[in-house]
Amino acid sequence: MPKFHKILTVWYQQNARDLPWRAKNDPYFVWVSEIILQQTRVDQGTAYFLRFVERFPDVKSLASAPENEVLKVWQGLGYYSRARNMHAAARQIMNEFNGLFPDTYINIVHLKGIGSYTAAAIASIAFGLPYAAIDGNVYRVLSRVFGIVTPIDSSKGKKEFSVLANQLLDLQNPAIFNVALMEFGALQCTPRNPDCSRCPFQDQCLAFAHNEIAKLPAKSKQTSVKNRFFNYLLIRQSKFIYLEKRLENDIWRNLYQFPLIESPKALTNVEILTNEEFRSIFKGIKIVIDSITPEIIHVLTHQKLHVRFIEITILNPETSFPWIRVLPDDVHEYPVPKLIDNFLLGNTGNKLP
Ligand code: SF4
Repeated sequence: MPKFHKILTVWYQQNARDLPWRAKNDPYFVWVSEIILQQTRVDQGTAYFLRFVERFPDVKSLASAPENEVLKVWQGLGYYSRARNMHAAARQIMNEFNGLFPDTYINIVHLKGIGSYTAAAIASIAFGLPYAAIDGNVYRVLSRVFGIVTPIDSSKGKKEFSVLANQLLDLQNPAIFNVALMEFGALQCTPRNPDCSRCPFQDQCLAFAHNEIAKLPAKSKQTSVKNRFFNYLLIRQSKFIYLEKRLENDIWRNLYQFPLIESPKALTNVEILTNEEFRSIFKGIKIVIDSITPEIIHVLTHQKLHVRFIEITILNPETSFPWIRVLPDDVHEYPVPKLIDNFLLGNTGNKLP
């Protein structure tokens, strides 16, 4: 029986996709691609990757950019803390490593927002260092081939998979081993309907032999989803509208949105207009309610947002609000959550009236 990594390498040579970040094993490109691919599929992620490295071609350009611009280029990918962390890590590389990407695992994992998986991927792919990079694809492949039922989200499971992956690692070529194993999980041993009939591991795969493919990898926790109720105020005053910056340690920190009233439950139209916060915002001000949209559902990884947009025209031109006054045409200069972007696109074809 050939060694695991030999079978894997042959499969990779025959099946590897031609992806832009693989053209050169530049640590910056590896880093950007790994962070983007943690939250999106390759087909969508490729466009984001190309856009990101076109605007920020290296660590220096990323470090010197304003945060708003980084978030704007990231807009739509979600998990905005990852973009903020990349920005901070780029500045860390400029300050602590003279702008040169660190070339040891310890120094890479010390960078902001880089965990053991990303550090192992960069260290092995860009610098040829012997660290196994274990992402969701790798957990799936190893759990199936070796029939491991230990939950992958337990500390015991993490340790067990790490030991196994590092034992299997091809020390002569850790870069190819890591990339090939991830690619194998992405293309061949997929979460649903893996292509077992043409799999080079079929005769040694325990999950296949015992008909347990759908049960692996095992997880111990059910992720709970929190419901939240967002009532956005699209306020028009003369030719302006208002945006506020999200500053709390919550989803979408440092992104911009319409002023928001968050309620503990779904509100009817009457309840919105008689809501205490709503009344205190518009106390003594003449307003016209132009429309209230039906509820829109926006799903995030652990949250389900129930969203309504209330369009309001202010009749007193001199009234001031504590938010940022912008011309509708200038909204596109601000990083906004996809939810707001979708509303603007769907409502007005990329422009507010
Ligand atoms: S036989 Fe099927 S389940 Fe096993 S490794 Fe191959 S594709 Fe995955």
